[in-house]
Amino acid sequence: MSTNTEPALYLAAVQWQDEEPSLEFRVEGSELPEFKRANELDLRFRVIADRPRRCIGTVERSKDGTNSVPCDLPAVSLRQCEKCQTKDNIAAANMHQAHRRGPEAISKPMAAYLTHPHRLYAAIFRDGSTKVGTTRGSSGGNRLVEQGAWYAKYLAQVDDGFMVRELEDLVTEELGINQAVDTRKKFAGHLEPLSNQELIDRLDQLSNETEGLISKEIGTRGVLLGERWSNPRTEDPMWSDLIAYPAAINQGAHEFTIQSMVGRLAGCSRQGFEENFLLDLQPLLAHPIETGDFEIDEFVMQDSLF
Ligand SMILES: [Zn+2]
Repeated sequence: MSTNTEPALYLAAVQWQDEEPSLEFRVEGSELPEFKRANELDLRFRVIADRPRRCIGTVERSKDGTNSVPCDLPAVSLRQCEKCQTKDNIAAANMHQAHRRGPEAISKPMAAYLTHPHRLYAAIFRDGSTKVGTTRGSSGGNRLVEQGAWYAKYLAQVDDGFMVRELEDLVTEELGINQAVDTRKKFAGHLEPLSNQELIDRLDQLSNETEGLISKEIGTRGVLLGERWSNPRTEDPMWSDLIAYPAAINQGAHEFTIQSMVGRLAGCSRQGFEENFLLDLQPLLAHPIETGDFEIDEFVMQDSLF
């Protein structure tokens, strides 16, 4: 039985702003989120096993962009209540089908969100996985850092989110480039990365093929960009020397310092250990946690890690 009467905390999201990560927490009984800068953040917490998980809420899209909508219902799926899950599923389907169905067939706020300049990009991850993707807005943005891309190239800017998805599908159909990369591949890439030069070369080759294809399609509705992007961590030595965090983050008691983040993956250190650890924060989302003075679980280090 838990004797702690403090309100529980919940990690609701990893948020990026100006390419800087922060962790969004919710406090039991409160509507307001609490943000903590993720870099150099000391965390000491225990997952409360006998309290329900809480829904992480959802994201709404409108002409002004995206807006996160909190929710305090218990989570029934992994991270969301039924209502938010359904809302997200509909939004994802709308977004995916928008260019095939047309603006009339989707919700007004979603159509307004898409009626705005968008860019098409190609990105590469450290294991060598590549993807083609789209982002709203004609400069900046957090889409690449939040996914944890290592290098990318903005290929083109077009008038709206409908046209950009036509181009994206064309690239997938003609060149076989995926539109998503599994987190397990991203994770593995940090443990055994290809060299930065190899990744740059591969991305250049992919970008050349893609630009050749889309330059014919783009017509008067957009321009080619050819603008390079690299993750702020590409020269950070810590990200070349990581081992997998040797414990499950969604149970037990933990203490570590997040040094920096790539997407939702955190590079962490722990007192008493020389190694730096790679940790996926997503499995912790929605779980009730508490802080306090309790014993921290010991790491069981496997021989195979050395
Ligand atoms: Zn909800």
